[in-house]
Amino acid sequence: MVLSLGRQMQLADTQSSGEIMRHAETLLRQVFGHEEFRPLQRDIVQTLLAGRDVLAVMPTGGGKSLCYQLPAMLRDGVGIVVSPLIALMEDQVLALRALGVRAAFLNSTLPWDEQAAIEHAARNGDLDLLYMAPERLLGERTLALLQDMPLALFAIDEAHCVSQWGHDFRPEYRGLHVLAESFSEVPRIALTATADERTRRDIIEQLQLHDADVFIASFDRPNIHYAIAGEGAGKTGLLRFIEEKHAGNSGIVYCLSRRQVDETAEWLRGKGVDALAYHAGLPAHERAARQKRFTHGDGVVMVATIAFGMGIDKPDVRFVAHLALPRNIESYYQETGRAGRDGATADAWMTYSMRDVVLHRRFIDEADSPEEHKRIQRAKLDALVALAETTQCRRQALLAYFGEDLPEPCGNCDNCANPPQALDMSVPAQKALSCVYRTGARFGAAHLVDVLLGRDTEKVRRFGHDRVSTFGIGGELNASDWRRLYRQLVIAGALRVDDEHGALHLTEKAWSIMRGDEGFTMRQRVRPARRSRRERSAALPEDVDAALFARLKEWRLREAREQGVPPYVIFHDSTLMDIAALKPVTRQSLSTIDGIGERKLEHYAEAVLAIIRDHAQGTSTSA
Ligand code: ADP
Ligand code: ZN
Repeated sequence: MVLSLGRQMQLADTQSSGEIMRHAETLLRQVFGHEEFRPLQRDIVQTLLAGRDVLAVMPTGGGKSLCYQLPAMLRDGVGIVVSPLIALMEDQVLALRALGVRAAFLNSTLPWDEQAAIEHAARNGDLDLLYMAPERLLGERTLALLQDMPLALFAIDEAHCVSQWGHDFRPEYRGLHVLAESFSEVPRIALTATADERTRRDIIEQLQLHDADVFIASFDRPNIHYAIAGEGAGKTGLLRFIEEKHAGNSGIVYCLSRRQVDETAEWLRGKGVDALAYHAGLPAHERAARQKRFTHGDGVVMVATIAFGMGIDKPDVRFVAHLALPRNIESYYQETGRAGRDGATADAWMTYSMRDVVLHRRFIDEADSPEEHKRIQRAKLDALVALAETTQCRRQALLAYFGEDLPEPCGNCDNCANPPQALDMSVPAQKALSCVYRTGARFGAAHLVDVLLGRDTEKVRRFGHDRVSTFGIGGELNASDWRRLYRQLVIAGALRVDDEHGALHLTEKAWSIMRGDEGFTMRQRVRPARRSRRERSAALPEDVDAALFARLKEWRLREAREQGVPPYVIFHDSTLMDIAALKPVTRQSLSTIDGIGERKLEHYAEAVLAIIRDHAQGTSTSA
């Protein structure tokens, strides 16, 4: 029944924009089960319905898809969605069909006769949404098909891929300017979750969106708690984080290398965590199977390289952890943004090592790109390091990077909860650096620390380092703190690590610190107190009946298995939480919960109400 809604509501030319927006609101409620538009969604929908172009920059989880899905359903013809990854398309189409929306995707993995049937439906305008990758769209055959079918709009998802300034340049996106030329009367919307000012200008240029209305939503993801354990917490730190806050939850752990992925996944499994490894070195069928276990499962932890993520549209990822430093803040933001897309509480947690920073710097140095580009990349890496080592509110620092001003500290990050001190380490840093200088910049940290502490070792005697002026001047710190200081000096770019021998070399910044032109501060290491039980289950809001929530999740998993779909296609976590908090007893009250439209009510009301009834009886008889 809902299937035909899109068609029933197609606009006659005479409809006023007020009327059209009322239709949009009806679809929002009946098909998607949402009561209200989110900020900007209404304006964007209205702009597209009026036939104008849009550039929308909205954070992950901000609700970008609705911005083109609704206009595509309301306008005559088919909405073409350009999306970079096949897996992402399949998930979106699956979820749309579950809502009764006429959606399909075109790619070469489909059998030929299925492709033909979809093309036929598209020509007849019998689809609301048709997804495809840019290279497919730009093929001659598809361009001819597009000329031959009614078009509602073009949506270009992950639009930052068109720009070299972005963090995920894909040359095939460049060809999309033909849309402006060949289909000038069809409105276009470009969408992205991460684009700084420069990337935005480039998107407009490349896609010829000069007349587009630009909408930029806040980058804040208030439901994500940010914590950066800093350098050196390692996988024990990770395990402690998972055990304390996320036992049994779905999460992603990002590593820098395939080896780190494999080792970490195995180690976590040994500690009883349901962890899977994922990286480009695995055969395609194995990757697909693991990805499926992650999306269709409930509580799988995926340990992965950055090869994993772009294609993942799982809204109930409860945490994203980094065991290694990403390349820049854009990547950090995008990767952590995969947590909590359903709006329920989620965590972003990170630790890293000095090695990561050294490796990233080397990648940049050795890359085959213009010096100007390398300079930008270095500055971007440094900005992320600064975020990791800051003593300020993480959210304020993160948003400031994207040009947004958060007036007050957020109260939902590690630095807000447990303000670390910034230690003035200028004098020890000067000593550490001049020790590098005095010994000829040929040694690694271990030996330099021996010299600073005045230790009588074979190496010290062999090189006569008991006679240099920095011998034994480091009594104020112990060996472990000196080593940490050296790592921090490398991370801050005052020292460079020799690739072959691990020898430390001085940089321009080192001289500036030794001369006293700039100071050197370090975060004091904070050892978080063990959390109380209440804090440990912080992922669940207080009004949610945890036992009922668990039963609903069990039912959802069974249902999902039977249908062969991911659990969130049945209901999102946030919807189940609302049910477990409000405990509705009638269909009517159930239908007021966010995420329950007509289709879902029809399919699941009976089962859900039965669980609530049963749970109420169980708790009242046992009380
Ligand atoms: P994005 O593509 O921006 O990452 P999505 O379009 O996937 O975000 O939407 C993220 C989540 O927000 C989804 O779970 C979606 O159902 C929900 N959502 C979107 N719009 C609304 C709305 N108006 N009211 C409530 N929830 C919404
Ligand atoms: Zn904060």
